[in-house]
Amino acid sequence: MIASMDWEAVQRGAIVFYRFRDSPWSNISHGFLTRKGGVSAPPFASLNLSHSVGDDPAAVAENMRRAFAAIGLRAEEIVTAWLIHGNEVALVDAHHRGRILEGVDGLITAERGLALFMRFADCIPVLLTDPALPAVGIVHVGWRGLAAGVLEAALEIFERRLGSCPSGLHAALGPGIGGCCYAVGPEVIEALGPRLGRALPLHRINGAWHLDLPEAVRRHLCHLGVPSVITAGVCTACHLEDWYSHRAEHGRTGRFGAWIRNP
Ligand SMILES: [Zn+2]
Repeated sequence: MIASMDWEAVQRGAIVFYRFRDSPWSNISHGFLTRKGGVSAPPFASLNLSHSVGDDPAAVAENMRRAFAAIGLRAEEIVTAWLIHGNEVALVDAHHRGRILEGVDGLITAERGLALFMRFADCIPVLLTDPALPAVGIVHVGWRGLAAGVLEAALEIFERRLGSCPSGLHAALGPGIGGCCYAVGPEVIEALGPRLGRALPLHRINGAWHLDLPEAVRRHLCHLGVPSVITAGVCTACHLEDWYSHRAEHGRTGRFGAWIRNP
């Protein structure tokens, strides 16, 4: 696991987010909002940014207002997605500003100044950039998306539609569930086998197989030709004070936000 050399917290009022300061990320507006600084009540406390988990819609709207004000984005300017753990990735531009794309788990843009936003609770937020274009992307990667080829789909757009070479891409992995907390059944191992094979990072804890999902994503990106992959090295389930964890909170929880803006 290659942990970021420079993963820092930023506090703006009551809102706290984290970002990478490693090159080239220090030149790109991006970040991962913690669950701190919002108004939602438990089990969504407090900065839940999802309308689809059963939280009070008024609280979510206020959380969005606070979060976007803190990070300097406006809701009508961003592109976001309704995630389904699939392998659809969309190339978006200025025409998609303010829209929610249904059924996609990856967003990519070469539009200058356009921001992409997604919500997470255990799945890995994968940020991508080709600084030479410039272009950026955000991908929601759980075991289902990894098995279905969502990373391949994202890289194909960078290569075929934007003319990137994988060796020119950089990837950064935000907080997600770690191998310490992610017991998986045989269906997960069987689904990932064809794509990752021996590269699957599994280990036993108290007799149960655990998958190191961030490491699986990192190895697969390297296998696909992306040489520069850094990770926050933060397990969502181990740090419920900062992040939401679908697994550790038994499905009753909120979603934290992650964004990236093309320079
Ligand atoms: Zn953990």
